[in-house]
Amino acid sequence: MQNKKTTLYVFIFAQCSVMVLFILILLLSLFRLHDVRQLLGDVTTNAVPALSQAAVITRDVQQLVSLTTRLTSVENQSARRIIKGQLDEALARLESSALQQEHSDKYFSTQLNVLAQEIEELNTLVRQQIEVEKEVKVEREALFDYLNQVFEGRDERYIELKSSQVLVSLTLKIAQINQQFQLHELRLLEGKIAHQLKQLRESADKGQYTDKLVITLEKAILGEWGMVDKQANVMRIRGRSRGRGSFVEHLAEEVASSIELRASEVTKNTAQSALSASTRVTDQITLSLGLSTLVMLICCAIIFYIYKRIILRLIALTNMVEHASDEVVEFEGNDEVSRLAKSFALYFNRVKTQEAELIRLSLSDALTNIANRRAFELEIEKSMAMAKRHQWPLTIMLIDVDFFKAYNDHYGHTQGDLCLKAVASCLNDTITRNTDFCARFGGEEFVAILPNTDEKGAQVKAQAVREAVEQLQIKHEKSVVSAHVTVSLGVATYYSTTDANWGVKTVLDTADKALYNAKVSGRNRCVFTIHR
Ligand code: GH3
Ligand code: MG
Ligand code: MG
Repeated sequence: MQNKKTTLYVFIFAQCSVMVLFILILLLSLFRLHDVRQLLGDVTTNAVPALSQAAVITRDVQQLVSLTTRLTSVENQSARRIIKGQLDEALARLESSALQQEHSDKYFSTQLNVLAQEIEELNTLVRQQIEVEKEVKVEREALFDYLNQVFEGRDERYIELKSSQVLVSLTLKIAQINQQFQLHELRLLEGKIAHQLKQLRESADKGQYTDKLVITLEKAILGEWGMVDKQANVMRIRGRSRGRGSFVEHLAEEVASSIELRASEVTKNTAQSALSASTRVTDQITLSLGLSTLVMLICCAIIFYIYKRIILRLIALTNMVEHASDEVVEFEGNDEVSRLAKSFALYFNRVKTQEAELIRLSLSDALTNIANRRAFELEIEKSMAMAKRHQWPLTIMLIDVDFFKAYNDHYGHTQGDLCLKAVASCLNDTITRNTDFCARFGGEEFVAILPNTDEKGAQVKAQAVREAVEQLQIKHEKSVVSAHVTVSLGVATYYSTTDANWGVKTVLDTADKALYNAKVSGRNRCVFTIHR
């Protein structure tokens, strides 16, 4: 039973294989899509925020650095306060960025705290620097006022110094004090000023007030916390504030680079996972393509199988049935279509047999088992056509049992049937030529067709038939002509040409007339007519 369902099992197997492969492709695609989704999640939640935050922090740090640079070179307190305010804002932004960082990133917060302290200290230094510079400026202006008085000669006491070259040179040197940026240059200038003050003192004989002026200048410039000392102090504070400022800048840059480093690490990790995801997706595409090709090949194989094993065979079967072909289609194998074909063949053969039997039955006489009148009508048409075509003589014999009514009446109908069967069989045995044909014409009347038979042949055959029936010696007490059953024959021989105008009716009528003549002239005899 199992091997009979081959086609079904092949289909189920193929269908299951295709389904399993499709599910496999689907699952693999889903896994890969999951990977890609995770990667996109990483990019969205880690890489992009890290990069954008790094960009924001870098921008804030750059601002911080530029503000720090401006703070170190600021000249008045109000500008300092404004810059300090901006620095605080930049720091606050950085701190809020720090809060957005992961909790584990404490280093950034610590760095920011250090930065804030350093900026605070820088601010204090700058404030002190401005204060001291202001003090120096005030003192310098006071000194220059004083010196201006001397030069303009408004104070009569210093009239003798008005044209002193030393004092002019000294004044120029004093003016250079706040232009010094290196401590050793300031010290050199201090030396020069001391020397010129000494020169001025040496010329003290010019007046008692000159000496007083020198003392005043000495104290104001070279004395403890004099102009030189304060300028040195300013330079020290400025140096410290510059140093702290660059420290703050370095620190800020370090913060920025650490953030950039972290962002680049995140980006690098994301890029690596993107690369591996891309490789996996490529693998998936290759695998999917391979599996799809396999599915396609399986589908093609199924289609080919269906075409070859089912459709072509069904077409052959349909053709066989539609055209009622004599050739019975049979297929190898034991699948459903082969079995269907075998069943078809079986039924087809059965139908053919039955058809042949039907034809045989429709053309044969049920009682005598020889051909019936229908068969005769078909045969005579053919024989006549052949005779005309080949210009053969054609002989028709009508054979009628003599006094058969009387036989029936005397022996009974059943015996009459047996008699008819015996006469039919005798006719069949006597008319033996392959091309000859005999049939029951109706009742107790028979007919024979003898193609290509002339009048001589007809005479021989007709006499042979008459004698053969007589030789059967079927008792017939009621016959007037014989003690046995006899027959009378009306024979018509027609010579044909291609344009002969005689037909079946003509021939039969002629034979019938001859038969009539045989009857009226005494029965148990043959009467011949020839028609040329
Ligand atoms: P004739 O010599 O002039 O031919 O006389 P006949 O009696 O033979 O001819 P008729 O036509 O008068 O009678 C024919 C009879 O044949 C009548 C009928 O009962 C009989 N008959 C016809 N067909 C059958 C048949 O199938 N079986 C039997 N038993 N008798 C048949
Ligand atoms: Mg008759
Ligand atoms: Mg008769």
